[in-house]
Amino acid sequence: MVNRWLFSILSRFLPACCPFCDTALEPRRRLCAICQAALPKIIHPCIQCGLPLPTDSPTLQRCGHCLTSPPAFDRLLAAHRYDAPLSALIGGYKFHRQLHHARLFADLIREVTQREHPLPEILLPVPLHPQRQRYRGYNQALEITRMVGKQLAIPIDHLSLRRHRATAAQSDLDAAARPGNVRGAFSLKKNLDYQHLAIVDDVVTTGNTANEIAKLLKRAGARRVDVWCVARVIC
Ligand SMILES: [Zn+2]
Ligand SMILES: [Zn+2]
Repeated sequence: MVNRWLFSILSRFLPACCPFCDTALEPRRRLCAICQAALPKIIHPCIQCGLPLPTDSPTLQRCGHCLTSPPAFDRLLAAHRYDAPLSALIGGYKFHRQLHHARLFADLIREVTQREHPLPEILLPVPLHPQRQRYRGYNQALEITRMVGKQLAIPIDHLSLRRHRATAAQSDLDAAARPGNVRGAFSLKKNLDYQHLAIVDDVVTTGNTANEIAKLLKRAGARRVDVWCVARVIC
């Protein structure tokens, strides 16, 4: 306890370190330039689902799946591919209370979204089921959304959308079981009077959760729903 307190006091006066290589950072940087350049990227993503398109077809904007059977969301922006070493940092953030990484994750999202035009009117973090949130003590998507909203001056709403049914982690299920796992799991406590919204999450695994929420928002009158995430799993 005393050690933690001492560490927190000392860390205010010590330069921050890169979370990947421990190099001391310049003020206001959250990663060293080498680790930042080495973060896993999605080369030439589909503008709708975020999955990689063939690199030999540079003019393609959407994948075949989004052309024939598009998801309910209109645009997915993933800052990075879900892979090492970023995946380890996200795991620490999500499951081991390393909440200080929220600021880095918000920066990564901001870098890929700040030039979007138009920006969404409101940001909605993907909600946890209340039982899981009580167990974890926080909603990792909300912490990131708060910071992204502040950085881009976009209001957030973390109360209107709720997950009323507990679901298994999408990553624990096979492809056939994933859509059914989240179907009907979300609801709105009140109608949202927005035309353009963005759903924010730490990781998008299959896109089924985002798709389910986007369907709900569109039924409620939204014209455009974007999805912003730190990392997209590439299957
Ligand atoms: Zn580094
Ligand atoms: Zn696509």
